[in-house]
Formats: sequence, C-alpha cells, structure tokens
Amino acid sequence: MHIFDLKSCKIMKIKLLLSIFLLFSISLEAQIQSFCGHADKLKGVTLPIHVKKTHSDGYSKSDQYVIPVVFHILHLNGPENISDEQIMSAMDALNEDFNKLNEDLVDVIDEFTAIIANVGVTFKLVRLDPEGQPTTGINRIYTNLTNHGWEDSSKINQWPPHKYLNIWVSKSLEGYAAAYSWYPEYADYYPELDGIMQQHDYTGSIGTSNEYLKHVLTHEVGHYFNLYHPWDLQIGDGPCGDDEVDDTPITQSSECILDLATCTPSIVENVQNFMTGTYCFRMFTEGQKNRMIETLNSPVGNRNNLWQEQNLIDTGLLDADLSISKIGNSSFSFAPNPATNTIQVKFSLAQTSLQLVNLFGQILLDQKTDNSSTQLIDVSHFPNGTYVLRYGNSFEKLVLNR
Ligand SMILES: [Zn+2]
Repeated sequence: MHIFDLKSCKIMKIKLLLSIFLLFSISLEAQIQSFCGHADKLKGVTLPIHVKKTHSDGYSKSDQYVIPVVFHILHLNGPENISDEQIMSAMDALNEDFNKLNEDLVDVIDEFTAIIANVGVTFKLVRLDPEGQPTTGINRIYTNLTNHGWEDSSKINQWPPHKYLNIWVSKSLEGYAAAYSWYPEYADYYPELDGIMQQHDYTGSIGTSNEYLKHVLTHEVGHYFNLYHPWDLQIGDGPCGDDEVDDTPITQSSECILDLATCTPSIVENVQNFMTGTYCFRMFTEGQKNRMIETLNSPVGNRNNLWQEQNLIDTGLLDADLSISKIGNSSFSFAPNPATNTIQVKFSLAQTSLQLVNLFGQILLDQKTDNSSTQLIDVSHFPNGTYVLRYGNSFEKLVLNR
C-alpha cells in the first residue's frame, strides 16, 4: 500500500497543472492512497456474526466524556523516540479536533459549515498506571519492534484496553500505511490488539511530524469510536460507498478537490471530513458525533467504561476526594443547579473560601466568603459541563448548562 505523504500530495497538484493527460492515472492513484491502513489491517479478521453490532439499545448520555490515554513509544533511540512536546502537540490537536476548536475549521466550505460537530470528548494523558503508580502517561520502550509497527506482535506492554486508550508510536509500519486503528467490535474479540498504531512522523504537529499531519490521530480515534471511512460500505460494484452516517454524502476515496461530486452529481462530497484520507481534513459531522456518542455509551469494546468516574479515579484523572459519589451532607447549598450564569450559595458553617473545581481537580475559582450567609457567585465565563463546588470539607456537584 502506498503511503500518501504531504510531498506526494504537492507533487500531485503540480502534475495536475502540467498535463490533463495525467489526470486519469493520478485520480486512480489518489483512490488507493491513504495514510490509514485500517481497512487493510482488518481485511483478514473474521468475527462471529452476532458481534456485528456496535450500538447499545438503550444508553445514558454523559454531559462530559474524558478518555484516559497512554502513549507507548517504541524506539531504538532514533528520531522515532519523539519528544514529550511532540506527544503533547498530538494531544492538543486531538482535543481541539474533538471540541470544534481547530483553527482550520474556517476553511470548511459552505455546504458543510452547518453540520460541523463539537463532539465534546476530552483526552487526557493518564497519571496512574495499571498498578496505581504515578506515570506521565508516556512509556518509552527500547525495542526493534519499532521497525515492525504493522505486526500485531508489536503492540507490547498494552495497558488494560477497557481502561486506557493505548497509542503505540513506531518508526515504521513497513510501508503498508502510516497508522491504523481497531474498531470496538473487533476489540471485543481481540482485546490484546485494541488501540492505535501510528508512525512517529504522522504524530502531532511538531518535531518529526508537521502541522498538516496533526489530524491523522483524530482520524484513527474516529475508527476507535466506530466511524468508517465515508466510502467504506461499497454500493453495488461502483467505487462509491456509504458509512452508516446520514449527513455524510455517498462518496469515494478522494483528494482535496473541494467541489468534488463524482458519486452523486451535484452533491458535493465532504472531502474535508476527518474520516477521509485527505490532508485537507478538518471536521466531523453531527451524524458522526451521534455515532461516536452512541459508541461511548455502548459496552461493545468497553468504550463505555473508559470515561466512568471510577475509571477516571483509577487512571489518576479524577481526584477521588472530588468523586461525585462522595458528595453530600454538605454544610452549604446553592441554586439553581443546573445553572447558567450565577448561583446563590447559602452557608451554614463559617468557612474561609468557596472553590469551583473541574473534574481534573484544577481550582478554577477561589472566592473568599464574607460574613453573610448567602453569596452570589458568577460562573458565566465557565463552559458548560460538570464541576464541583468545594466549601471546606464539603463538596457539591454543579452542572452548567445554557
Ligand atoms: Zn482510516
């Protein structure tokens, strides 16, 4: 499988300008080019029929999804041993992309701006390993397997996949692709393979990677959350396909021609979608968001366990003292809850300060209480989500929902 890198993308554009006679062969080439080896990797995998489902029938939706992440850097002390900063750039891009904060969204064409989704998932490097010991969430493993990222056996030192999103970074995927991921339904039967394998030079936006490749990990996490490529489910004998998502057009593997409408003439294809293999990819649709949220609420592949409060405590992302289950019997109360812009707090004990804390234990507001028994607190500048109000040894859950 050919690896589609930025250089060849630029060369392709030049070729298109040079000669129309090259157009046909280049188009064919574009169809098979992708950084993602997801489909190829799964071709030989067979599953029992009954697991060919991915959604739970009834599910509860969280107002906040936090996913614990661990990186395993497979290396031989070469450039594949990427810096912490490069890994953080990958995490930053992932969090931007899943929260509609990536700056390149301004380039999305008019046909699709109304359905750009804020998926509402946050990814965090874990702070506790499976034994409960402190960790940075980055493992560096000196191994020749870094040259064999395409091999299943290279997924060494996997942390329990029902608790951690494992991301392996390698020097090479041996020319088959630059990255690939694992669907939830496959993870149920092959949990030891669950996670993402990615080449170092397609990871993050700095160092051995670059700004144009920072969305590759987002694409792979899309698969991890059960998204197909837009063309994966072939229709008839033709090159066009579907993805079980209503608001993504029928499409085929495409390049960055923004008005491309080859499958259904006059219906423009969403080549800027993260799940295409193009390098102008920059958005999820609302339909894709819904499918991912369903997946996060499904037991298939244990995706619904990743963000549970107990798992966030186990992986060090949630302070056990702040866990919602311990909240109650407080020496204060407040209203309204859910709140929008202000809350009125009533105190029954003399304390010195009232704190607003997020679910990672970060103190966002630390306000001195005066001698009065009630106080208005401005929460208008905090985004929607779940927080904890801390007053002495008392905690109360606060939801902001506007
Ligand atoms: Zn893919």
